[in-house]
Amino acid sequence: MGFASKLNIVVTGGAGFIGSHLCDRLIQQGHRVYCVDNLVTGTFSNVRPLLNHPDFEFIEHDIRDPLEIAGRIDRIYNLACPASPRHYQRDPIGTLHTCVIGAGHVIELAREKRARALQASTSEVYGDPDIHPQPETYFGNVNPVGPRACYDEGKRAAETVFFDCHHIYRIPIKVARIFNTYGPRMLENDGRIISNFVVQALKGEPITVYGDGSQTRSFCYIDDLLAGLQLLMESPPEIIGPFNLGNPEEQTVRQIADLIVAQTRSKSTIEYHPLPRDDPRRRRPAISRARDVLGWSPKISLDEGLRATINYFSLRLFTDERVRRRPDSGSHTRSRQRSNALSRPALAR
Ligand code: NAD
Ligand code: UDP
Repeated sequence: MGFASKLNIVVTGGAGFIGSHLCDRLIQQGHRVYCVDNLVTGTFSNVRPLLNHPDFEFIEHDIRDPLEIAGRIDRIYNLACPASPRHYQRDPIGTLHTCVIGAGHVIELAREKRARALQASTSEVYGDPDIHPQPETYFGNVNPVGPRACYDEGKRAAETVFFDCHHIYRIPIKVARIFNTYGPRMLENDGRIISNFVVQALKGEPITVYGDGSQTRSFCYIDDLLAGLQLLMESPPEIIGPFNLGNPEEQTVRQIADLIVAQTRSKSTIEYHPLPRDDPRRRRPAISRARDVLGWSPKISLDEGLRATINYFSLRLFTDERVRRRPDSGSHTRSRQRSNALSRPALAR
């Protein structure tokens, strides 16, 4: 994507999985990036390679508090929020406040700076869907008092905050409903399916399938998602959304397990565990709106994306193992302690 000028861009949640890849991409394109993160699920090491870049600034901040940044801001990507069920359910009120109050603070900043703001919403706004595949016109089927509600209802309300502020104050907004996205830099113990299964397969541990594995998801590789987010952000002001961004190739959880075992040539066996409450039975995005309006569709197959993800995790596991075995691994331990110390409210990793 060509840019006529250098933009000043805020990425909240910029030290997380999606956010850190977005920061990389924006810096590579020549923009100035302010990465705002409280490191609750993000890690300092995700953005460490960017820290010495003159156009990159890391701001440790919780978006539940008002957000102030000096100078011109042109774009704000609001990605701050834990995305894995394990993590967003650990502090449900915190998650709800991050979604709703955080969205309010992001919108305030956009209003003050006359900046464009993009909200990272989610397929979870459709809950356990009665309509398949899910188009943006579907209002969803969310249990408002279940364990996923803090995230699902929080994200629904965040969309409301964005749309109402757009209508009242004419703030330019964009809303992306992101479907399951995967790739390098997911946390090893993130709890999400792809990272869990890949790590389990590489270690030769049992693959933990929840329920009978017949529930479905549709997986989008990180690079495809970033292209969609950016196309949406840079689309003309009258294009707002919401837009589903995801890969419509649908798989059962059991198929994913088999695929990962085959790709890693693992000896892992399948181990069945109870299905978590309110786990959606099926999920697949209808993406004709994104295709027609933004000219976006995913390009990277599950096979290809999984290969890159497996390479990432095998490198990490292998390197960690070597570091653990080395007698003189002091400097590595110190740097890891430093990054942990920075993750103030860090979750158990
Ligand atoms: P992630 O957990 O890796 O990243 C989230 C980042 O936000 C982390 O760096 C975390 O420390 C930060 N954060 C959380 N609460 C914060 C707060 N109150 N203040 C400041 N920073 C805070 O998750 P991800 O997969 O990178 O997801 C990024 C965004 O995309 C989230 O908003 C998520 O809801 C959305 N999303 C992701 C997926 C997916 O499959 N990855 C799917 C749908 C929606
Ligand atoms: N899942 C699983 N085993 C795991 C992790 C997840 O069977 O170790 C299932 C989970 O029950 C869900 C699907 O995989 O049906 C996707 O889960 P994830 O947490 O990755 O995302 P989400 O449920 O938010 O779509």
